[in-house]
Amino acid sequence: MDCIFCKIISGEIPTTKVYEDDKVIAFNDIEPQAPVHILIIPKEHIKSAAEIDGSNSSLIAHVFEVAAKIAKDMSLDGFRIVNNCGDSAGQTVKHIHFHLMSGRDFGWPAG
Ligand code: 5GP
Ligand code: ZN
Repeated sequence: MDCIFCKIISGEIPTTKVYEDDKVIAFNDIEPQAPVHILIIPKEHIKSAAEIDGSNSSLIAHVFEVAAKIAKDMSLDGFRIVNNCGDSAGQTVKHIHFHLMSGRDFGWPAG
């Protein structure tokens, strides 16, 4: 499958891993938008948040557990988790991913 994130999972594309277990991996974003900008992704290829249902939602719950663990391990003082779903929301990689961002102030509402 021609998916950048599946290639990162398989090791075909190198990246700086922050966390890995049997279900998810987390790695530094190549174009960080904050001092801490980590992508957390399930190893299963789910296209977007629009495909979350009863068959895979436990995986997404696990992503959020991992986010909390990373935040604790890195002693992050506040963080933002972002998921872009679909072209109009700015999703460029069609393998579901959650941006874990920290280290600066974030405005609200987001632009
Ligand atoms: P999206 O815009 O789909 O929500 O986020 C995709 C993210 O993936 C972007 O922040 C982009 O910088 C990141 N990204 C795209 N290609 C690569 C890559 O090859 N390696 C890493 N580490 N990040 C990538
Ligand atoms: Zn994929």
